[in-house]
Amino acid sequence: MTALTNLLDLDPEQLIAYCAELGEKPFRAKQLQRWIHQFGAGDFDAMTDLAKSLREKLKTRATIAAPAVISDHTSADGTRKWLLDVGQGNAVETVFIPEENRGTLCISTQAGCAVNCRFCSTGKQGFSRNLSVGEIIGQLWMAEFELRKTKGIEPGPKGERQITNVVMMGMGEPLLNFEPTVTALKLMLDDNAYGLSRRRVTLSTSGVVPMIDKLAQECPVALAVSLHASNDGLRDGLVPLNKKYPLVELMAACKRYLDYAPRDFITFEYCMLDGVNDTDAHARELVALVQNAVNPVPCKFNLIPFNPFPESGLTRSNNGRIKAFAQILMDAGIVTTIRKTRGDDIDAACGQLAGEVQDRTRVQERMQKMAEYQKKFGKDFGRIVEVRT
Ligand code: SF4
Repeated sequence: MTALTNLLDLDPEQLIAYCAELGEKPFRAKQLQRWIHQFGAGDFDAMTDLAKSLREKLKTRATIAAPAVISDHTSADGTRKWLLDVGQGNAVETVFIPEENRGTLCISTQAGCAVNCRFCSTGKQGFSRNLSVGEIIGQLWMAEFELRKTKGIEPGPKGERQITNVVMMGMGEPLLNFEPTVTALKLMLDDNAYGLSRRRVTLSTSGVVPMIDKLAQECPVALAVSLHASNDGLRDGLVPLNKKYPLVELMAACKRYLDYAPRDFITFEYCMLDGVNDTDAHARELVALVQNAVNPVPCKFNLIPFNPFPESGLTRSNNGRIKAFAQILMDAGIVTTIRKTRGDDIDAACGQLAGEVQDRTRVQERMQKMAEYQKKFGKDFGRIVEVRT
């Protein structure tokens, strides 16, 4: 028996090609796409304007399958977190953050992460695998229609959209899973799917320089960069990828990206770590980094109070320190926000998206295997899984 094609894996052109294989015209692909991504249909029988013969054909050859929900928790502040099964003992997390005028979904692009940032609990899990298109877009598909169901809002373009913004800031480095990530982004932007504007979709990267350039060419959405340090010495220790792509290269890539970006600034994420990167001197060094005469980078800073976890050995800067740090940036004319911590009670705050993976033994096994391979093939084995252009 041949495997069923998961239609969540297909971008608009691929869906047209798939329909052509079934002897169907391109407009059928559009209809199908709307049923899937605008009405949340997971059942071909519900697609009433498709010919019965096509529905029957689809039932035997295709499926619409998002990762299964393992758990679903809502925090006291309304933040909702799903733990999703992506097979073979792996799970990823998706978080919905409601605010007054918008609803933001934070999605994952990999199971685990190879970048291993020192302050990030996901990085401590090690890397397991890249997510497929269906597993990435499936998070938005599942969350939008689950949220509507909870509130009794009808599916379809007439029902009030629950997710107005998407950020790729969950588990994984999206630019190290480039092709599926970009295909999922294109579906988010497509008018026959979610129709989000580029400004409302943000990809966050730890700084994979060549892929920032590639993203600019293929699908320039808003860009956030996990900066977390004001100089290379400090950043090498916090974000190991910096050794490969140091700050001078990263800043130049950010500048180049702005020629294509939907916003005229880059958002720099900066995790506030007590006594590590949070002094006045660090703030002044950051100002010099982004406002230097040779390569100034128009930017906004988002200061993130660190969410401590036991293995990190790090603590959160106190509120007074965070405010003083922000003031130095603002005095230099840089728009600076301090992220509210949301969903603390369900481990959904930033850097905690590894909290609850069910099968911890497998995570241990993977890390052990990785250590063995590194012993055999050198310490860099498996650290960076990079898609070359
Ligand atoms: S902060 Fe992002 S890139 Fe760094 S280890 Fe965590 S998930 Fe990976």
